[in-house]
Amino acid sequence: MRLILLGPPGAGKGTQAQKLVEKYGIPQLSTGDMLRAAVNAGTDVGKRAKAVMDAGELVSDAIVNAIVAERIGQPDCANGFILDGYPRTLAQADAVEAMLAERGLKLDAVIELAVDDKALIGRIAKRAEETKSAGQPVRRDDNPAVFEERLREYYKKTAPLIGYYYAKGRLHTVDGMASIADVTTKIEKVLRSI
Ligand code: AMP
Repeated sequence: MRLILLGPPGAGKGTQAQKLVEKYGIPQLSTGDMLRAAVNAGTDVGKRAKAVMDAGELVSDAIVNAIVAERIGQPDCANGFILDGYPRTLAQADAVEAMLAERGLKLDAVIELAVDDKALIGRIAKRAEETKSAGQPVRRDDNPAVFEERLREYYKKTAPLIGYYYAKGRLHTVDGMASIADVTTKIEKVLRSI
């Protein structure tokens, strides 16, 4: 099963991806996690991405597409994967179609987590607080000023993907304002229906 989780930052894509990993045993491919790992490891990609990420802007399509193309070719992706935070631009959406077509594969579904902007700011503040209390480092971009930029980038560059996938008949919208368990149940219902 090959899925895309779509939605603004803080919509719960990572949380729901984890639930799907447990249930279906396929990996979560989070481009944000991969880029943060590259930044921490100080690789060339990490060095190029760091300032852009700290500003809440999007890393170039070329960098992100190359990371994903490499990742989906790994053996643990053979039975499927959950894309979390990718694609984020129309160019990335075209790139993923091409990557899959090259391998004779296709996407099974795009699940959009629909949430209310006002709730997102609160969720991000909560995530930063919980991470801090757990003694873990708080993401540098989980602060109100950078978060606003991330949200602007989402509406400008990523939200058009909703229409793109709707037109392809692949879009399934789930109310992301419900509890974590309810959202999981709704996603599972969608997955059973396809
Ligand atoms: P995330 O963890 O998904 O919120 O991503 C954190 C940051 O990584 C984003 O604000 C972007 O700077 C960068 N990033 C993650 N995924 C992508 C992507 N698909 N395209 C461009 N930039 C990305």
